[in-house]
Amino acid sequence: MHELGIMINVVNSIEKIAAENGVTKVETLVLQVGELSPVVPHYLEAVYPAAVDGTLLQDTRLEIEVIPGNALCRHCGTEFNLVKNNKICPDCGQSEWNLISGTEFLIKEIVAC
Ligand SMILES: [Zn+2]
Repeated sequence: MHELGIMINVVNSIEKIAAENGVTKVETLVLQVGELSPVVPHYLEAVYPAAVDGTLLQDTRLEIEVIPGNALCRHCGTEFNLVKNNKICPDCGQSEWNLISGTEFLIKEIVAC
């Protein structure tokens, strides 16, 4: 499980941003995680309390937005979800596509009190 290391990095960056902006308390932290990224939202939530313990984010609520893993079919132009359709275009049955979204891992928003 590499999520703890990732979460600690996130917490470190936010503490830095907060310090630069004179923020002393963060109410909510919003992360965006792509469906196809190697980071598992459930594990992020699990390691979160350990990662924020003793930091500025100790009482901060964590929100995770999952970005769907979508692709555009190269044959018929249909946009479809890769996970739900087993990476095969539901319209024409081809498996050649261009990735649109789903590999993100971003700090979307930091809500200060
Ligand atoms: Zn297609």
